[in-house]
This record gives sequence, C-alpha cells and structure tokens, in this order.
Amino acid sequence: MDALNPDPADPETRQYDLGALSGAARAPLPARPALLDLDREALAEFLRDEPRFRTDQVWTAINAKGQAPDQISSIPLTLRSKLAEEFPPALTPITEQRSADGRTTKWLFELNGGAQVETVLMRYRERATVCVSSQAGCAMACSFCATGQAGFERHLTVAEILEQVHRARDAASPQRLSNIVFMGMGEPLANLERLFTAIERITTDIGIGSRKITVSTVGLVPAMERFADANGQVGLAVSLHAANDDLRSELVPLNRRYPINELIQACRLVRDKTGRRVSFEWAMIGGVNDRDRDANELIGLARKADAHVNLIPLNSTPGYPTTGSSPQQVKHFAGLLRRAGINVTIRSTMGDDIDAACGQLANRGDPA
Ligand code: SAH
Repeated sequence: MDALNPDPADPETRQYDLGALSGAARAPLPARPALLDLDREALAEFLRDEPRFRTDQVWTAINAKGQAPDQISSIPLTLRSKLAEEFPPALTPITEQRSADGRTTKWLFELNGGAQVETVLMRYRERATVCVSSQAGCAMACSFCATGQAGFERHLTVAEILEQVHRARDAASPQRLSNIVFMGMGEPLANLERLFTAIERITTDIGIGSRKITVSTVGLVPAMERFADANGQVGLAVSLHAANDDLRSELVPLNRRYPINELIQACRLVRDKTGRRVSFEWAMIGGVNDRDRDANELIGLARKADAHVNLIPLNSTPGYPTTGSSPQQVKHFAGLLRRAGINVTIRSTMGDDIDAACGQLANRGDPA
C-alpha cells in the first residue's frame, strides 16, 4: 500500500476528492512518508530484521505516546537513528502564538513539500479542545472564510493530521486533551480516506473517544452518506449559514452542486444512522442571515433534520467586508429559535486577537 495515497485508483476515493476536481493541487505531497503514515503492516515490514515485539513497541511509542524516534528510550540507539533517518517529521513549527488571555495557542506549521497549515488549541476550565486542519488551504471558496479566500494547496497526509493532535496534547499537558474538532483549514470530508484513518488512530491509539470528536463539513453530500455508515459516534457539524438556496449558493458555492434539500436529507440520514444529532453552524452576518425571516427558515430546516443549531458571530476576514451581527442581534436570533423549540447554542469566540478564531486561519502567522 502507498502510505500517502490510500487507494488512489479507487473511484469512491476520487468521487469525494473535490480538492483534486476543482483544480490541481498547488503544493506537492511529501516525497517520503512520515512514521505516522505507516499502518501496522508497513511498520512491521520496515522492522522485519528486528525481534517481533518491536513492532508493537514502536507502534505504541509513536501512535499512543506521540514520541519522535529520538524519544523512544525503550529501543536501541541504532534503531532510533535508523527511524529518524528514514522518516522525516511531518510538521515543522514555524510560529507559536498565544492569545492575551493565555487560553488559545495557534501554531503555524510547515509541511514537507512547502505548504503551511495552522492548528489551534483552546483551553477551557473543564476541557481542552484542538482544532485540526485537514487540508492546506481549501477548495470550497466560501466567501466569508479566510481559508476559502486563499484557495487550495493540497490534502494533508494521515501523519500531518495526527501530528497536530500529538503536539496539541503535549502543549495542553498537564490538562488532558479531551476534544478534537476538524474545524481548522480545509474541508475534512474532501480528504475522506485519510480523515477516517486518522480518526481510527485517534480513538484506538490516542484514546480520545469518538463522541469527543467532531467533523465539520460544508455539505459534501456523498461523503456525508459514507460518514453515516462509517463513524458510529463521531459528531458531524454542517456549515449551513443560509436556509435558502439563493443566499447559500452565494456564501457557500458548493451549494450549487448539493442544494439545501439534498443536504438536509443527508443530515437526516446521519442523524438516523448514528443516533446523534447533527449540528448546524451558522455564522451570523449582519443584515445578511440574521433577520427574523432567516430565523424562520432555519427553524424549518432544523426541525426536518432534527438538528442542533450553533450560532457563531462572524469573525472578520480580509476578503469579506460585511461585519458580524451585534451581540444583541445574536441573542435575539437565538431567542427566536429557542422559542420554536430548537436546541441552540452560541459559540464563544476565542483567540481572535491572534487570528485563531473560526474562519480566520490562512497562514498569516509569518513573523515578518
Ligand atoms: N470546511 C469545513 C471545516 C472548517 S470549519 C466547514 O466549512 O465546515 C470552520 C467553521 O468556521 C465552519 O463552520 C465555517 O463555516 C466557519 N467560518 C468560516 N469563516 C468564518 C468567519 N469568518 N466567521 C465565523 N465562522 C466562520
């Protein structure tokens, strides 16, 4: 198996690979796999001249503990250097920024091959959540999102996804990293096979349960159908933002391909197959989607999909002039939904002083 390209010829894989469909990737995949790209068989094959127990030993060190080769003190030095020579680290940290209140950390990482991604750790009193990127850049081109404004670079590999989690877990310590949200750069469901592999490793080896993982999608309907079958208890968030096709197609161009009624059916399918409610994400944009009639349309869809609604005050981005709704308007809007019996929460914005808030990730962390 090619560790970097799971089933590249598989027509199913290609079908969801909208990144590739919407233009060639601008950055190359790494020339060589990193250690975390290997599955167990590939690792066993690499260690074929070692005693049999070595595979489990190294697997646990890298996948459960997140150790780099030079940290695996239970194996001989020569093997440590052999691993380090053969497998480059997946991520090279370029910058690390902390918000003024100290609760948010944002990293800019360079990938082998040159592209960059950002990862955000959020520390709350009762939990610590890492917001993980699944692609460098994004092909979905949502107008109000900084990542979408910058365009698609390439998919992340399994190792690049997992290493973000390991680094965030180290940084969170002594607090336990408890939650993972695939809400960083990119469209996770467009990188479906690698996403599934990463989730499997996170639950099995890192030990973060599937109920503590949330994948956010812009509404890639065929991939949502596969998600419904594959991931039992992993949560799904859908970036809805508008409840009629005219407005949604303006904000989220993918809506032209998968319009709202197909999307709502897919949400319903996920809800019915997984037993978990989907949540709708709704970035509140002043005068655009925060009026009473927007609330009424949204109420209808939330009922149909049996969805929870998460309101996110719009964060500012360079390419989108409109501002977020006022806090009073957000409250008023939430009240309308609540009175209609919809389960609604307002997302607290963290890290906007370091451009780490929703929709603000776009590699602008360059210290120069
Ligand atoms: N591509 C996926 C994963 C990114 S998640 C998706 O779109 O769902 C990022 C979340 O932040 C999404 O809900 C996205 O719609 C939201 N978002 C994007 N730009 C934003 C902005 N400027 N302000 C607030 N939320 C934004």
